[in-house]
Amino acid sequence: MDIDAIIEKNLTAVSDEYRAFLKKKLACQRCSIWNEYKQVVCSDGNAKNPTFVFVGESPGKDELSEGKPFVGRAGQCLRNVLRRHKKTFNRNTTLLTNLLPCRPLNNKFPYGKANKDYKMADSLSTLDAIGLTPKMKRATAIQVVRNCLDEHLIEELKILRPKVIVTLGAQPLYWLTEMSGITDNRGKWQRIASVAREYDLGAWVFSTYHPSYVIRCKNTGDKHIVEQFEEDLKTVAETWATVTSKHVPRSAAAKPMTVAFGDVPKDYGGYASTEEIEDIIAEAMTDDITW
Ligand code: SF4
Repeated sequence: MDIDAIIEKNLTAVSDEYRAFLKKKLACQRCSIWNEYKQVVCSDGNAKNPTFVFVGESPGKDELSEGKPFVGRAGQCLRNVLRRHKKTFNRNTTLLTNLLPCRPLNNKFPYGKANKDYKMADSLSTLDAIGLTPKMKRATAIQVVRNCLDEHLIEELKILRPKVIVTLGAQPLYWLTEMSGITDNRGKWQRIASVAREYDLGAWVFSTYHPSYVIRCKNTGDKHIVEQFEEDLKTVAETWATVTSKHVPRSAAAKPMTVAFGDVPKDYGGYASTEEIEDIIAEAMTDDITW
């Protein structure tokens, strides 16, 4: 399938700028991760100022075969919960993507609790060939992920400017916010600009479990994690609904909208500049949420 056909299949409302970015991303063969499966997976959903971007870890085997993120069992688990809040999360408001658009061998990343659990360095077979020590391989693997992130996901977020980024699992939490420990950090809001990176995406970040972990817990009868995951996504939906309904007047007599506001429905009748809305969200979230 050519790149334009992949874009049409996965995305709605693609701007020229985003299309140019995607063509570069989908043709990328820059690093050794690509060598493992030789496929870059496209994002899925609204590609013009989505309100929400969900960031997973990397494509699984089903995602490689379908060419879109979150279509396997974990993806269905996520999509089922999103459908329960379809007024908030739908193809007009939401984009699904991954930290890495290529799949590392056995889905291993060079970061994790005991390091030994996430040996992406060991999975980068090309590094063995040049005789690096394990420490050098791990440092190289970290740089490989960081380079991909800066070149693709961060660039994508800069173009799309979502209001809320939902990270799914430990890896996007770590690589986007530099915080470790999904159990301690899930269910909390934070401003991505507050982390020690050079970029300011102007978005709120909310973290929860990766749906594949949720499925594993479901299979072992750990209902608590399943409930927390569902509760987290409900929190995002309800917070967004509260913020927008509390502060943006619906009255037809309201002042005309000065700046188009993301994906608020046309009949919303609200008014606010982007900066005003961001201040409003910040104020409302400070009122309602402790982190
Ligand atoms: S992992 Fe990222 S940098 Fe490496 S080939 Fe895939 S898209 Fe390119």
